[in-house]
Amino acid sequence: MKTDTDLRQEIQKIDRRGYPAYKGLAGGWKFRAFDLSIDHVQGDPFAAPSKVSVKVRGDRSGFPHALYRSEVRKTAFEDGLLRAFAAEASKYSFKASGSGKSGLIECSRPGQEILKRTSCEVEQANGDILLRLEIGFPANGRSVNAGELIKILFDFLPRIVERALFWHKEDEERFTAAAGLADDQAAVRRFLKENGLVAFVADGAILPRESGVSQKPMRNAVPFRSPEEMRVTIPLPNRGDVTGMGIPKGITLIVGGGYHGKSTLLQALERGVYNHVGGDGRELVITEETAVKLRAEDGRRICGTDISMFINNLPSGADCSHFYSENASGSTSQAAGTVEAIEAGCRTFLIDEDTCATNFMLRDELMASVVAGDKEPITPFIAKVRALYEKEGISTVLVAGSSGAYFHVADRVIQMDEYVPFEITGKAKAAAQEFDSRGAEKISAAYPGRPSFDRKPMPGRRPESHGGRVKSKVTGKDSFSLNRESVDLRGVEQIVDREQVQALAQCLKVLEAECFDGKRTVSEALELLRQKIEKGGLTSLSDSRYNIPAMAMPRIQEIYSCVNRYRSLRLTKE
Ligand code: ADP
Ligand code: MG
Repeated sequence: MKTDTDLRQEIQKIDRRGYPAYKGLAGGWKFRAFDLSIDHVQGDPFAAPSKVSVKVRGDRSGFPHALYRSEVRKTAFEDGLLRAFAAEASKYSFKASGSGKSGLIECSRPGQEILKRTSCEVEQANGDILLRLEIGFPANGRSVNAGELIKILFDFLPRIVERALFWHKEDEERFTAAAGLADDQAAVRRFLKENGLVAFVADGAILPRESGVSQKPMRNAVPFRSPEEMRVTIPLPNRGDVTGMGIPKGITLIVGGGYHGKSTLLQALERGVYNHVGGDGRELVITEETAVKLRAEDGRRICGTDISMFINNLPSGADCSHFYSENASGSTSQAAGTVEAIEAGCRTFLIDEDTCATNFMLRDELMASVVAGDKEPITPFIAKVRALYEKEGISTVLVAGSSGAYFHVADRVIQMDEYVPFEITGKAKAAAQEFDSRGAEKISAAYPGRPSFDRKPMPGRRPESHGGRVKSKVTGKDSFSLNRESVDLRGVEQIVDREQVQALAQCLKVLEAECFDGKRTVSEALELLRQKIEKGGLTSLSDSRYNIPAMAMPRIQEIYSCVNRYRSLRLTKE
C-alpha cells in the first residue's frame, strides 16, 4: 500500500488542475495511525461529497474487547464511536475553504435510536474499526485546491481519528455505560419473551418528547409510574432489579380523557422496537421487536392483498381476496395494512384511534340496525381482534378515547390520568356489562382463517434496461424514489431514520433485480433478501463496492411495508 507521503506528493502534483484530477487519488493510503481509503471521488465541488473510509486496527486503537464481545454490545459500541466521530468532525467541518461542499467533513449522526449502520463496523474477532465518512474535496472555483485538502487529510482527519477512534481513559465511563445499557435492554427483551409480555415501560421513564420535531426528552415531564396490578420486576445485569409496567399478550386498551398522555404512551411503544441511547428517557421502554403500528392511509396503493377478512361485497364487485386500488379509502387501506402486517410476521398491533378509519374499527348497534348487514361491506376490526389473538397469536394494544365498544373484548384496560396509568379492567368490564350486553355476541364472529399470501411479484426493472443502473434518491424520512417512481412512506411510522430509508431503497432494488421472479411469493422473495443481508451485511445491498450509501438497518416489517407501497409492483396473474 502506498503511504501518506506518497499521497501528499500526489495531491501537490495536481494543485490547480481541473477538479476531475482528484479522481486519481482513489485507493488506499497508509497513514501512521490508520489506513485511509479514498473510496469514491465526487465529480465536481457541488456534487455529493467524496466517500472516504478510515480503518484503525484493534491492537492499535486499544478499546477493551469487553465493549464489543456480544452482538448487542458491538452495535452499541459502533453507535458510540460514530457519535464521538460526528461530534469531533463537526469541529473541523468547513474549516477548510472553497466553493460548493469544499471542506465538509461528516459522518452519520445517529438520532435517539441505536441502529446497525454501514457507517461504522467493528470486527468482533480483532476489534478493527472501519468508519465511513464524507469529505468535500476543496476547490478554487472548479480547480483542485491542494493546500486545503492537505489540511483536511493531514491535520484535521488524524486529529479527529485520534480523539474518536482511539481509547482514552476519560471515555471509559461513557462506553461502559453504553455496554451495560445494551445488556440491560437485551435482558428486558429476553424477559418479555419468557414471560408472555409484549412490552415493558420502566418506572421513571420519560415518554413525551421535547416537540413535534425533536425526539429529545421533554424537560420537567411527569415520569412514568406503573399501575400496581401490572407491575413487574425485571432483574437486569447492570442496573439490578427494575420495576415497571408489563403489558401481557392479549388485548390491551388504553383509555382516558383527551390530552392525558395516551398517544404519547403508544408512540413510546412504537419506538420501543428499537433500543434507545442513554439519557433518552425511553432506555427501558421496550416493545417486542415485531410490533407494527397500524393506521389508515387514504390514497395508498394496494396490490393483490387479501382483505376479505375485513372487506367483502364491495359495490364495485371487486375481488376482495386479491384487492387492488391505486387510491385506497381509509378503511381499505387500514384493512390492507393489517393483513400485510400479519404477512410480515407481526405479533403485536399498535393502534391509535386518532389515526384510524372509524368505520374500520367499529360500527355501533344503531348503525348496524339501520344499514342491514348485507349492505355493509366492512366487518370491523373489533369483530376480529379476539380471533386474531386466539388463532394467530397476535396481540393488540389500542388507544381508544371516544368509544367504549372495545371494553367488551379487552383483556385489560389502562386509564391514563394526567400522564399516570391506572388499571381499571374490572371497573370497565362491569360498566360495559351493564351498559350493553349484546356487544359481546358480535365479537365472537367466526374467524375466516389465515388470509392468503400467494401474491407473486414480477421481476422489476433490470439495471440493463435503465442505462446501466436504477437510480435511487432518498428525499427524507418519508419517501424515496427509484428512477422516477416515488415510494411514499409517510404512513410507515416506525421508520425512525433517513438512513433506514436509504437501506429500504437499496432493498427494493435488490428485490426487483434478484428476488422477484414471478414465481416466488412476497415472503419467499423477502426471505432471500434477508439471507443476503445476514450473510453479506448491509453493505451487500449497495450496487457499488466503493460508493456505499450510508444505510441503517430497517426491520423486516418495514421492508414489507415498502414493497407494499411500491406503485410499480406487478404481480403474476394466477
Ligand atoms: P392524548 O393522546 O391522551 O390526547 P397526548 O399523548 O397527545 O394525549 O399528550 C398530550 C400532551 O401532553 C402532549 O403535548 C404531550 O407531549 C404531553 N405529555 C404527555 N405525557 C406527558 C408527561 N408524562 N409529562 C408531561 N407532559 C406529557
Ligand atoms: Mg391522542
